[in-house]
Amino acid sequence: MTAPVGLPAPVVPVAARSSVVPDSLLLLGRSGDLASERGVECPGDLPRLSDPDLVARARRARARLGDRAFVLGHHYQRDEVIEHADVTGDSFKLAKDAAARPEAEFIVFCGVHFMAESADILTSPDQAVVLPDLSAGCSMADMAAIGQVEDAWQVLEGAGLAETTVPVTYMNSSAAIKAFTGRHGGTVCTSSNAETALRWAFEQSGGLDGGGRVLFLPDQHLGRNTAVLALGLSLDDCVVYDPWKPGGGVDPQRLAGARMVLWRGHCSVHGRFTADAVEGYRRKIPGVTVVVHPECRHDVVTAADLVGSTEFIVQALERAEPGSEWVIGTELNLVKRLAGMHPDKKVHFLDRDVCYCSTMNRIDLPHLVWALESLADGRLVNRVQVDDETAHFARVALDRMLALPGPTSKD
Ligand code: SF4
Repeated sequence: MTAPVGLPAPVVPVAARSSVVPDSLLLLGRSGDLASERGVECPGDLPRLSDPDLVARARRARARLGDRAFVLGHHYQRDEVIEHADVTGDSFKLAKDAAARPEAEFIVFCGVHFMAESADILTSPDQAVVLPDLSAGCSMADMAAIGQVEDAWQVLEGAGLAETTVPVTYMNSSAAIKAFTGRHGGTVCTSSNAETALRWAFEQSGGLDGGGRVLFLPDQHLGRNTAVLALGLSLDDCVVYDPWKPGGGVDPQRLAGARMVLWRGHCSVHGRFTADAVEGYRRKIPGVTVVVHPECRHDVVTAADLVGSTEFIVQALERAEPGSEWVIGTELNLVKRLAGMHPDKKVHFLDRDVCYCSTMNRIDLPHLVWALESLADGRLVNRVQVDDETAHFARVALDRMLALPGPTSKD
């Protein structure tokens, strides 16, 4: 079990909400109705977005905290937040950066909940990991609840398949699910090392050519793309386990013959890109290079020229020839930032119908200012803490991943 410390479940009375803007029209971080924006309680004063002193207040609070605080900014965060980060990167890099700063009392994680959990697992018990808005979750991680995963394991046990199945979970999962994989001989993977992690898992389960299988959580697309494009398995070797259906909605014979049991989860941002959008750009801009994230659907990934993690995409743009033209299928904040960083290259966003990661964007400047000022005033707020037993087994799974050869960057 993991629990944010000291915060009651948020209840925003309907009467306290704005009577001017209907709830359905509230835009994240753009409404004047702070009560309905919070999602969770922010004791003290959450500054208004329109406060003209926000940037100065963030800098002042940051200076007051000095080395006591270390601010991490995920690639998908807004520029207004990234500006105040000590380091930026993907979630795993950031968790490792945090672990390398044992002198920092507070790790302020501008990312989403599962990332803050991973940072808590990898840092010392004396360090507090703070998520400026506790409602910043990840829809993909939320698609696999620990109770559902335990039920799925029982289905595999009932079919006599658990002994030849190794669970592998993507970093984008709760600490409880990482701990589940640790307990059951499995590991964690990132989008950069998914191939290595799957090869390792197949070795544990009886070899790629043997009768073993992998239960892959929670992103079906990363699992399928890696199994088919990197390991050479066929689409028929993969089945999708739907946690909302009895027995996962999979015929027992089909389950027994499957090499990859893919959890029915996906990223609500990357899952929206389409192969049509890729083809549309190819027609419009001959010679354009299309690069997408492996959380995209299989037909999108096969239509693209390159596929890789955010770190891969960042590096691809750094290495690109001046004058080259790129279409990128990943979160919009990163694509816009890359376009700004590389004015000598032409950068396009793959699909205008795809929006920002709404949960990532929960972290805005008012929440960051509120968290920093609270810490500077001696109030520890929004701490994300993983209980000892969960942290222990999650660490077992993470350590297995760290022992794998090759890169470990992700998302
Ligand atoms: S971009 Fe997708 S995987 Fe990443 S935090 Fe948002 S919902 Fe989760």
